[in-house]
Amino acid sequence: PAEFLGLFQNAAYVVTNSFHGTVFSVQFHRPFFTTVSPAELSAPERSRTVSILSRLGLANRVIGKGDTAELLDPVDWEAAEAALTAARKDSLNYLQAALEDRPYAPEAPLSPQSFAPKLAERSRCTGCTACAAGCPHDAITMVRDKTGFDFPEVDLEKCVHCGRCTRLCPVLQERGPAAHLPAAFAAWNRDDAVRKDSTSGGAFTAIAEYVLEGGGVVYGAAMDGHQHLRHIPCFRKEDLWRLRGAKYVQSDLDGVFREIREVLKTRPVLFSGTPCQVDGLYRFLGCRPENLTTCDLVCHGVPSPGVWEDEARFIEGNKRRRLANVRFRNKVEGWKNSHFTAVYDDGTADSAPLFATGFGRAFGRALFLRQSCHDCQYTNLNRPGDFTLGDLWGLRPDEFPEQQHAGVSLLLVNTPHGSYLFDQLKLNCQPFPVERAVAGNPRLARPIGPAADRASFFASYAVEPFEEVRRQFFRLPSLPVRAAGKLLSPEAKAKLKAKLHR
Ligand SMILES: Cc1cc2nc3c(=O)[nH]c(=O)nc-3n(C[C@H](O)[C@H](O)[C@H](O)COP(=O)(O)OP(=O)(O)OC[C@H]3O[C@@H](n4cnc5c(N)ncnc54)[C@H](O)[C@@H]3O)c2cc1C
Repeated sequence: PAEFLGLFQNAAYVVTNSFHGTVFSVQFHRPFFTTVSPAELSAPERSRTVSILSRLGLANRVIGKGDTAELLDPVDWEAAEAALTAARKDSLNYLQAALEDRPYAPEAPLSPQSFAPKLAERSRCTGCTACAAGCPHDAITMVRDKTGFDFPEVDLEKCVHCGRCTRLCPVLQERGPAAHLPAAFAAWNRDDAVRKDSTSGGAFTAIAEYVLEGGGVVYGAAMDGHQHLRHIPCFRKEDLWRLRGAKYVQSDLDGVFREIREVLKTRPVLFSGTPCQVDGLYRFLGCRPENLTTCDLVCHGVPSPGVWEDEARFIEGNKRRRLANVRFRNKVEGWKNSHFTAVYDDGTADSAPLFATGFGRAFGRALFLRQSCHDCQYTNLNRPGDFTLGDLWGLRPDEFPEQQHAGVSLLLVNTPHGSYLFDQLKLNCQPFPVERAVAGNPRLARPIGPAADRASFFASYAVEPFEEVRRQFFRLPSLPVRAAGKLLSPEAKAKLKAKLHR
């Protein structure tokens, strides 16, 4: 034991994957990092290592979390020792109380976190921005972490502990059940050019044009010149192209909810986004204004903006040209064989099937989605938006055969307001059985599971050059896996995946 403990006591630095290795490092005040299993990373509340380190204010020594410390960051041993002393006192009090058969009252630990307002755990926070937008003292800002996602950070100097952020958080406040099943439709835009430019059938543009014709403003996700995706307002039909098309990255909502609240005072608004964003907007507003219409998307999960922006820089470096525009779901070969197309500032372009590109493949296997997407509370028919838009996957070849090349939207009409608007839309629609829509689209039934190497990916992403990370993680799967991918039916693949994730 002396030799073993001596290794820790005399170490210049400890890197361990053992709970006791972690504990000895703390006892001997040795700077350390610890790794935990992917299962523990995705459910940190079940990890004893994360538990003790959080209690000691040292959770940033766990590798692969968004808030992992830098390699040479000092450890605040004084604060950790104070927390440890308090925790020891607590356990002795507990034992004493148990022996004397009296109730046990724990003393509140005095870590800075005990003064912070309660927000969703990092692993469940969707980044909807309701807390930041709703804070009356501007004490919350969204800050990008090492996974490339934005999380709320509270300025404790400004926070007055009013609890508003806790009340606005869609993760902390339970959603009510759906009032009724949505009505489902196969839908496609009457304008062929618009439809070609859209991801599925172009239902979004039909709804957006209706709102614009009524003097409204449409909010949707558009790339800026640096390939940063943010929600922007759109006032004219000619500008809707910027919002059209699914972008496989989480969009930035900084300032958008407050802006919408102002616009709603004088004009109708359409907001289109992921279901967590739509729910966040309603929580922030605290009501469903009559002049607000919302579309939520059926959502596979949102990739990390940091990873996407690094990929964009990589493409630009490789090509020695600036990206002018990207399309994640270009229909050059039809709706079902989406292409990723990069258009450069000199007018040239590259196009390849989405799932033949490194980024597209990694997106498909859920390598860098937000952690909360794997526990998403919106992957069902209880939708927050007036409408839900998705791809109508699962069509038989004999169903709307002449429409399948150009793309068909799944349109769910979820509310009486949506139903009223639906009757006015210039859109071709056919009723479609809702249970078949769900059967064809797993993201209406359950959240997607994370790729087995998700935690390793983010651990590397935090410290290694992006080129090295993409070389390791974006590569083509091995030949047998690729062959199985081609030979197996979608049903067989789904069964296999479910088995692997069990
Ligand atoms: C990240 C992501 C994952 C998706 N996963 C699925 C899925 O698993 N199954 C499925 O059936 N459909 C999925 N969709 C939806 C689908 O790709 C189409 O967006 C939808 O069918 C609408 O198509 P459309 O032709 O009517 O409109 P489009 O013209 O394609 O309009 C797209 C609308 O989505 C908004 N939008 C685009 N990208 C984002 C983004 N990153 N964040 C927020 N809003 C955005 C735009 O502002 C616009 O309002 C996903 C979309 C995204 C963005």
